This record gives sequence, structure tokens and C-alpha cells, in this order.
Amino acid sequence: MSANRSCLIVGAGIAGLTAAAALEAEGWAVVLLGKGRGPGGRMATRRIGESRLDHGAQFFTVRDARFREAAGRWEQAGWVAPWFSDGGHVRYRAAGGMNALAKHLAKPFDLRTEAKVKLLELADEGWQVTTESGQTLRAGALVLTPPAPQAIALLAACSSRFPSEISSILNAIVFDPCFALLVTIDGPGLVPSPGYIRPDQGPVEWIADNTQKGVSTGAAALTIHARADFSLHNLEAPQEYVAKLLLEAAKPWFGGQVTAWQLHRWRYSRPVDAGRRPACLFSRQPACLAIAGDAFGGSRLEGAFLSGLAAAESIGEAGS
Ligand SMILES: Cc1cc2nc3c(=O)[nH]c(=O)nc-3n(C[C@H](O)[C@H](O)[C@H](O)COP(=O)(O)OP(=O)(O)OC[C@H]3O[C@@H](n4cnc5c(N)ncnc54)[C@H](O)[C@@H]3O)c2cc1C
Repeated sequence: MSANRSCLIVGAGIAGLTAAAALEAEGWAVVLLGKGRGPGGRMATRRIGESRLDHGAQFFTVRDARFREAAGRWEQAGWVAPWFSDGGHVRYRAAGGMNALAKHLAKPFDLRTEAKVKLLELADEGWQVTTESGQTLRAGALVLTPPAPQAIALLAACSSRFPSEISSILNAIVFDPCFALLVTIDGPGLVPSPGYIRPDQGPVEWIADNTQKGVSTGAAALTIHARADFSLHNLEAPQEYVAKLLLEAAKPWFGGQVTAWQLHRWRYSRPVDAGRRPACLFSRQPACLAIAGDAFGGSRLEGAFLSGLAAAESIGEAGS
């Protein structure tokens, strides 16, 4: 990859994928590096047997005109559809699960999966990035989209060369954790139509029935999200203990026997106070660097999308 109008993007969640699309549309050569087996990040969908369950982001909401335009294209393509409305907003689900949307969006790009970046170095005309497997790539510009604590660790070797404001903003970012318990039931389940409930007390914040949602087929397949305070309190507790508490709390909505469960711990689930920060962090010197993600644009898919867009715009202006 020659340094001129070339960009490496670390992270293939919605922020990275959006930045990639905007930069490629402006003629940039882009390579995406993601540590997962596929794209998506927190747009995550898992299988348990024949069931399919969204275990990160559950839906997205559209408020901004630029996101509306993108969501409109996705809806026309059949990738997303309205799930329900509340509070005056339509909540969209993705056909086949949130991760399927990420896969559609990633299709046009050079995406290197299972490529965990371990080292970022300033090189003559930009950046040199080294992955855990020893792959080395160079480019003129870099977009970082991992959650702030992971971005800080990656930048450790060179952060002193960038304006100190970047480190101070990154260091102040706090993420709430969230336990996601995925459960399959041997019956239809008791979550009311259209397939979600927000219990008003106890450790459970959200239950979605992926079958009613249209992501899974057959018996009920439930995603149970714990509240942030419960998740923080039990962050290092044994899985079986956390699962037992959540299974007990969600039992009234089961309507049958649990056939299987899996617990996932999102250490960095949603950023706190994301709306108060700029849409991305950017520095032109000593090398073109943009830092994006939901901690900047707002703590949701839409915010991460807008932050990815802002990162691409900053890099595009610097490179033109
Ligand atoms: C439980 C839960 C429920 C949610 N519910 C909703 C919801 O209903 N509606 C909504 O709008 N939003 C929701 N969100 C938030 C939404 O998922 C996020 O705002 C959005 O997905 C963030 O996208 P992103 O691209 O900024 O980050 P991510 O999706 O986290 O992407 C960052 C990527 O960087 C990668 N990465 C990290 N370190 C490295 C490395 N060293 N090398 C290579 N790659 C690396 C990660 O693997 C990841 O793929 C929820 C999130 C969670 C966890």
C-alpha cells in the first residue's frame, strides 16, 4: 500500500466500516483490520443450535439525515426493516441479525479478519501497523475505532508525539459493561409482542425474543441484557453465578424449560456521556490519525456511524 491517499482502519464495527466506505468513495486505498472472525464488533449475532440471537446491539434508531440516507439504502436492499416504534422513533432490526448487516457493509472492502493489531508505529510517510500474527502494513493515514481503553493501549508507544488533548480525552472515556445471556427455550416463550420487554426492576434491563423479532426461527431464543450496575458489580464473578442470577430474574418470561444458555461479557458495552465529545479526534501531525467510534458520535450505532463519517471527512480534507 503506497502512503499517498492510503488508510489503515483498525476495527470493523460500524464506525470502521463507515469510514472505509466514505474514504473509498473519495478514491482512497483502504485496508480494514479486525481482530474478530468477521466484521461487526458490537453488531454481534450468535448461534445456539438452530437458533440465532443478537447479543450486542439490538436495534438502531435514525435521527440524523446522513444516517437516514444510509438506513434508507439498507432498507431498500432488504438488509434492515422496522421492528417496532416507541417514544416517537422507529426501531430497526437487521434481517438475519445485526451481524448480517455488518457482513453486507463489509463486502466491498479489503478486510483482514483475525488480525489483532498489537503495535502502531510512526513510519516515514505515515504509519506502520503490526498484527499479533506478525503481518506488517503501512499507510499514510490511520483510523482507530476500538473502544477508548483499547485505543489508548495501542497508541501507548507514540501518544507523546500527538497533541496532549488526544490522550486526555481518551483517558476520560468510561464504558459501562454489560452481561448478555443468550437462552433457548423448549416453547414459544412469554415475552409480549413484538418481542421485547424492559423490566422495571431487578438485574435485567432488556429481554428480546429473537424469534418474534424475525432473527431466529422455531422455539423462543432470548437475549437477556443485565443492567450496567449489576454488570459492573459482578464483572469478575464466575459465569455460572452471573448466569444463575439472570436466569432466575428472567424466568417469568420463559414459558418453558431452558434448553441451552451462553453468557457473554461486554466489558466495553456503551460509553458514558458520549454526546459531549467531538464527532472524532483528529491530528494531521506527526502523521494523519483519526480516532472514531460510538464514544464520540453518541453511544449508539447511529453515533458510531456518524463518527466514522467524521473521521473519513477529516482524513479526506487533510489528504486533498
Ligand atoms: C449489549 C449491547 C447492547 C447494545 N444495544 C444497542 C442498541 O440497541 N442500539 C444501538 O444503537 N446501539 C446499541 N449498542 C451499542 C452499539 O453496539 C455500538 O454503539 C456500536 O456497535 C459501536 O460501533 P463501533 O464501530 O464504534 O465499535 P465496535 O463495534 O466495538 O467496533 C470496534 C472494533 O475494533 C476491533 N478491535 C479492537 N481492538 C482491536 C485490535 N487491537 N486490532 C484489531 N481490531 C480491534 C473490535 O474487535 C471491534 O470489531 C449496544 C451495545 C452492546 C454491547
